[in-house]
Amino acid sequence: MQISILVLTNDASIWKDFLQIDHAFLNKQRIMNLKKVFELVQKKRFDSLFIDMELLDGNAANTVYQLQQSNFEIPIVMILSEEDEAQAIEMQKAGAQDFILKSEIEEKIVLRTIRYATNKNQLLNQLQKSRDLEHHLAYHDFLTGLPNRLLFHDRLNQAVKKGKRSKDEVALFFLDLDGFKKINDTLGHSFGDELLKMVASRLKRAIRESDTVSRFGGDEFTVLLQNVNSVPDTKTIAKKILETLSKPFTINERELYITTSIGISLFPRDASDSETLVKKADVAMYRAKAAGKNLYMHYTFSMDESLFESLTLENSLRKAIKQDELVVYYQPQIEVNTGKIYGLEALVRWQHPDYGIIPPDKFITLAEEIGLITEIDEWVLRRACEQTKIWHSNGFKNLKISVNLSGKNFKQKNLFKRFDRILKDTEFPAEHLWVEITEKSIVSDIEHTIEILNQLKSLGLKIALDDFGIAYSSLNYLKRLPIDMLKVDRSFVGGIPVDRDDSAISTAIVVLAKSMMLQVIAEGVETKDQLMFFKALNCEGMQGYLFGKPQTAASTTNLLKSNLNFTSHFNLSPQPTVVK
Ligand code: C2E
Ligand code: MG
Ligand code: MG
Repeated sequence: MQISILVLTNDASIWKDFLQIDHAFLNKQRIMNLKKVFELVQKKRFDSLFIDMELLDGNAANTVYQLQQSNFEIPIVMILSEEDEAQAIEMQKAGAQDFILKSEIEEKIVLRTIRYATNKNQLLNQLQKSRDLEHHLAYHDFLTGLPNRLLFHDRLNQAVKKGKRSKDEVALFFLDLDGFKKINDTLGHSFGDELLKMVASRLKRAIRESDTVSRFGGDEFTVLLQNVNSVPDTKTIAKKILETLSKPFTINERELYITTSIGISLFPRDASDSETLVKKADVAMYRAKAAGKNLYMHYTFSMDESLFESLTLENSLRKAIKQDELVVYYQPQIEVNTGKIYGLEALVRWQHPDYGIIPPDKFITLAEEIGLITEIDEWVLRRACEQTKIWHSNGFKNLKISVNLSGKNFKQKNLFKRFDRILKDTEFPAEHLWVEITEKSIVSDIEHTIEILNQLKSLGLKIALDDFGIAYSSLNYLKRLPIDMLKVDRSFVGGIPVDRDDSAISTAIVVLAKSMMLQVIAEGVETKDQLMFFKALNCEGMQGYLFGKPQTAASTTNLLKSNLNFTSHFNLSPQPTVVK
C-alpha cells in the first residue's frame, strides 16, 4: 500500500533527510508555503502532514489549531529541533497527533510515526463521531428524530432573545393528539409509535424549514414559528396542521383517523419569556380539548382563571362520582286525562359533604366541558333503570322513566352499546324509557344527531326534545328528527297566563307538536291557572312543582303509593276544551 506524506519545511537539511528514506511505498512531497497546503490536500490524498515548527515562526500552536478546525482530516506530525516536552504537549493540545525530532528523521522512526499518527487520528475521529452522536441523541427524540424538549427549549430561548432585539413575533403551538392513549391501548405500542412517526413527518412538511417542530413528550408536539405576522398567520398554519393530520393514516394496511387539539401563544403578546409561553400554549390547548377537540385556540387572559376554578371543581367532581356523592331525584309527570302520575324524570343532584345538595345547573356545564358528563349520564341512567325496575315490580307496572342525555354524548362512539348494556344489565323494558335531549344539543350537527337517535331508538326507547322553544331549531330539522315528544320549556310556562307572548308561544308549540303527531308535555307548571291553560290546549302531559318537586326515591315511593288523582285533587272538569 502506498503511503503519501507532505512535508512543510524551508529547511533543506530536513527535506534531505526525508529524501534519504529509501522506501518503495513512501511517496514524499515537499511544500514551503502553509497556504498551499490547503490547495494541495484538496487535490490529493495524504496520509500525514509533517510540519517544521521553525517555519511557523512561533505561531505553531495557533496554526495547527486552525488546521484542525477547518475540517482538516490528515494527521499532523510536528518536526521539532530539540526535545522540548512542554512544546510537544502544547502541539498535541492544539491538535497535532505526534512529533518527531529533526535528528530522528530516518526510515524506521518516520514510518512508525506515520502509523502512530494515523491510528491516533482515526481513534480521535471515531471518538468525535460518537460524541456527535451522543450530542444528537441528547437533543433529539429517538423515535421521530425530531428535536426533543431540550433542544426545543434552547431554540425557543434563542427565538425569544432574537425577538426582543428585532421586535419580531414568535408563535408557539402546543399540539396534543386526541385520544392517542386509546390507540396505543387498543392497537398496541408499535402501532402508536408508527403513528407518531407519521405525524412527525406530516408536521415537518406543514411548516417552513426555518421553523422548528419538536416532540415534547408522549403524543405532545410543539411548533415554533419565527417572524410571524400575528394572529392571521398562526390561524392559517393551525388550520393547515389540523387539515394535514386529519387525513387518514395507513398503518399495517389499516386506515386510521385522528384529530388534534392545538393551543397557541404569542411572543410578546402573551408572555415575554419562553417558559411562560409554553405554559400559556398548554393552557390554550387544554381549553381547545375542553371545547370539543380537533380545533385550535389562541391563549387569552381569561383562560387562566377559569382553568384554575374548573381544576379545583373538576377534582372534587371526579371524586364525587367515585365516592358516591351523586344522587338521583325523581319528579312526577302527570297524564292530564287521568290525573295520574304516568312517569318520572330522573334529575341528578350532587350531595356535597360540605355544601349539601348542589343542583345540576351548577355542575352539568362543567362536567360537559371536562368530559365527565358521559360518566354522569351513564350513572344516572343505570341508577334510574334499577330504581324504576323496583317500582315496576312493586305494582307500578307501567311507570315511565325519563333521563336527560347531554349532547356531548353524541360524540361518543359507543353510546349505543352503553345504552344496550345498561338496559340488559338492569333488565329494564326499553319501551318505558324516555331519553330527553335538549334542543341546543342537536342544532350543531343535525345529520349525526339523527343517526345516533335512530340507533338509540332501535333499542325500543323513545326520545323527547327537552327545553323546546329556546334554541330556534328550524321546523325543517324538527321534521327530520326521530323524536316522539316535545317538552315546552318552562321559561314560557312561567309567564302564563299573564304574559301574552309566553302564552302565544306555548300555544304554538302545543299545536305544532300535535300537527306533527308528537306527544307534548308542559314543564314547570306551578299554578292551577297554568294547568288549566295547558289542559285547555289538550296538552296530554305536565310536569312541575304544582304536582311535585324532584325528590328522593324514598319519598317518590310514598307519592306513588298515595295514588293521588290530580284531576279530583284540583277539582278539574273531566272534559277539556280544545283550543285551536
Ligand atoms: P330539565 O331536564 O329541563 O329538567 C327540568 C328542570 O326544571 C329541573 O331542574 C326541575 O327541577 C325544574 N322544574 C321542574 N318543574 C319546575 C317548576 O314547576 N318550577 C321550577 N322553577 N322548576 C321546575 P333541575 O333538576 O335543577 O335540573 C336542571 C337541568 O339540569 C335539567 O333541566 C337538565 O337539563 C339538567 N340535568 C339534570 N339532571 C341531569 C342529568 O342526569 N344529566 C344531564 N345531562 N343533565 C341533567
Ligand atoms: Mg329534562
Ligand atoms: Mg327542560
